[in-house]
Amino acid sequence: MAAILLNGNDLARRLKLKMKQEVDAMKANGILPGLAVVIVGNNPASRSYVTMKERDCGEVGIRSFEYALPEETAEVDLLGLIDQLNADPNVHGILIQLPVPAHISEARVLERINPDKDADAFHPQSAGRILIGNQTFLPCTPAGVMEMLKDAGIEVAGKDCVVVGRSNIVGKPMALLLLQANGTVTVCHSKTKNLKEVCARADILVAAIGRAKMIDASYVKEGAVVIDVGINRDENGKMVGDVDFDSVVGKASFLTPVPGGVGPMTRAMLLANTLKAAGLV
Ligand code: NDP
Repeated sequence: MAAILLNGNDLARRLKLKMKQEVDAMKANGILPGLAVVIVGNNPASRSYVTMKERDCGEVGIRSFEYALPEETAEVDLLGLIDQLNADPNVHGILIQLPVPAHISEARVLERINPDKDADAFHPQSAGRILIGNQTFLPCTPAGVMEMLKDAGIEVAGKDCVVVGRSNIVGKPMALLLLQANGTVTVCHSKTKNLKEVCARADILVAAIGRAKMIDASYVKEGAVVIDVGINRDENGKMVGDVDFDSVVGKASFLTPVPGGVGPMTRAMLLANTLKAAGLV
């Protein structure tokens, strides 16, 4: 039987409707939530992400402030802008679109953001809070995945969960959130031995690798829940995930499509973090 597809577009739409009501209530109380998005340089993918984020803000009534800085911007100037945004009462969330140019330290930039305005949850304080289970903000992609599991009624407690990928923005926080939900979690990476066998034990398999269609049916247990975080281009320039959809769809019980799966949920969670930040004021 074919897997049930987890429709991220539909869930994101439902969540945004709720958030719009929340924004209206905040406005009635004199708070207009605001998100500052800073982009440095001309990376076309980053540019289109920023445009989509601003459109999302508009849909729910969040005010967005865009700062587009030239590629050659000095680190000190970017840090100065972050200080200014940290102090601006109209700005509740701050997002620095990654990657920043190579001459700028990503770590120094992320650490400069006031942790109370950390809309992407990449500040070390946000990461540490997730580790101890006392989080304010959650990184958007793993948070979006948890929302999808919850919405589909998929129980995590007691399940064998395998996360392939250990980046700070996806793999590691994903593993921690599954652990918080009482999953039994294994984290895999490029040095993992017998990756296929480890993945094939998973009740819930999350692929956050960045390798087009790498996870085929031979990595998947019959009836597993398969979450595809990957965004890649195939040989024809088409957007594909880390999961070989055609191969896996007949074996998994639930599967996220690419596009239309995790991606829209990532964007919705940015809005949720911004509202949370506005609520801290
Ligand atoms: P990174 O490149 O930072 O991390 C990739 C991870 O995959 C690393 O931990 C790496 O291992 C591991 N890996 C790479 N190759 C293999 C392999 N052959 N076998 C096992 N593990 C491997 O990527 P990100 O975490 O930032 O992103 C992962 C994917 O998710 C990308 O396609 C990205 O575009 C997408 N993405 C999608 C989002 C969405 O909203 N849907 C949001 C963010 C990312 P090691 O640590 O050993 O190098």
